[in-house]
Amino acid sequence: SGSTESAGSISSLGRDRGLSMSSSQNKSLLHLRGTQKKLVLGMVGLPARGKTYISKKVSRYLTWTGYNCQVFNIGSYRRKLFGADKSNEFFDPDNLQGVEQRKQCAIAALEDMIKYFASGGHAAVYDGTNSTSSRRQMIMEYLEREGEHLGMKIEVVWIESICNDPEIIEANVRETKLTSPDYIGASASTAEADFMQRIRQYEKAYETLPAEADYPFVKIVDVGRQVITNQIYGYLMGKITHYLMNLRPNKCPIYITRHGESMHNLRGLIGGDSDLSPNGRAYGQALADFIHSEQFHEDDVDELTVWTSTLRRTIETASYLNIPTVQWRALIEIQVGICEDMTYADIEERYPAEWAARKRDKLRYRYPQGESYMDVVQRVEPVIFELERMQAPVLLIVHRAVARCLLSYFADYDQHDIPHLEVPLHTLLKLEPKAYGCDIKTHKLDIPSVEDEGPHVQTSS
Ligand code: ATP
Repeated sequence: SGSTESAGSISSLGRDRGLSMSSSQNKSLLHLRGTQKKLVLGMVGLPARGKTYISKKVSRYLTWTGYNCQVFNIGSYRRKLFGADKSNEFFDPDNLQGVEQRKQCAIAALEDMIKYFASGGHAAVYDGTNSTSSRRQMIMEYLEREGEHLGMKIEVVWIESICNDPEIIEANVRETKLTSPDYIGASASTAEADFMQRIRQYEKAYETLPAEADYPFVKIVDVGRQVITNQIYGYLMGKITHYLMNLRPNKCPIYITRHGESMHNLRGLIGGDSDLSPNGRAYGQALADFIHSEQFHEDDVDELTVWTSTLRRTIETASYLNIPTVQWRALIEIQVGICEDMTYADIEERYPAEWAARKRDKLRYRYPQGESYMDVVQRVEPVIFELERMQAPVLLIVHRAVARCLLSYFADYDQHDIPHLEVPLHTLLKLEPKAYGCDIKTHKLDIPSVEDEGPHVQTSS
């Protein structure tokens, strides 16, 4: 029968290699290993170098792939403990009171991070400037000591963002700092001048990660123009490094739609590789008309590329567009194994145990000889990496389960919501990037589909 990945089995950072273990197997493995591994990604960099941006992204990525991960932002501790109204003098390394108070914030964040690990967190991002060797040494020693105390091995990887292009820095300051809680009530020019001065205060004491360091780090230079790694080892660190190598602050929208209604949709069958129905073809045409209309952003359509799966219904939907198309096998619909070409009613009748297992845990339920939603998350990961690298708009014409997985990554939905996200047929979603996330706009095209006929009709995708 179809196996489910047990929810309680994600207790060590060694998971996520496509292995399915029962929880008893997993417990004995953990017992043999003795200590639990935890991972801290410590940010390093001057202000306005994208540390918070990178922190949120990498944390999102880890959460999406099944780890418990949280960001600990030292600036928020500073605001909470000592107030938001600190001018740049507070950050002067010669201001002894400022130095002491900033150290207290750093420790308060570390203490919470330890509590988070003790309560089941797997990984944490420690988001601050961490700009001197002595501060980083203090953090590593603290984590080693506290970890030992709690029977955890806490590994630290430093992620440094270096950028000396004044244009990028000014743009970053304008985009994210002028509206920061640090400058409520201040004019834009006062805020900008003070923030630039804050950067200079940090520059006085800044020490880059040394090439001879005997600990792991990843240095990102000029928004990914160069990536330097040191002592990166193992599966997870490797994956994170690969992710960081692809990460660019993207200003372009991502469009997502399901294929037009298929013949299988019409018949209520799941799986398969059917053609579009007449309404599905009408949607292909309507989508093309919309994308080439004035309503659609002119810059977007000029640079747009279209990505489909290798299944006929997506390729056929794209065929009306007359835009270069890339076919990704990684984007095919969730594989339903022995339930291929069946209706949901057939499955309930023929495989009641499978039906019940799926109802219990739709996220981790794996169709016999098929896939689970979590399998799809793993499968579409290369597409996510590529999208993070893209500097042009992309339209993805995909399938329902795949659209749900992609959407949950970009819009930061809880993992357990993935299988339940609403992605109706004949609807175009526009994901517009903003400072640390994205807005979603929904555009329903006026083409009927089997899904309009009532909530009792559950179509495949
Ligand atoms: P602070 O120390 O004040 O918290 P920060 O380093 O955390 O600053 P962010 O708040 O993350 O900086 O700045 C966000 C801006 O940085 C965004 O405009 C984003 O586009 C940009 N950005 C993202 N990645 C990078 C990078 N690798 N290098 C430089 N800028 C980047």
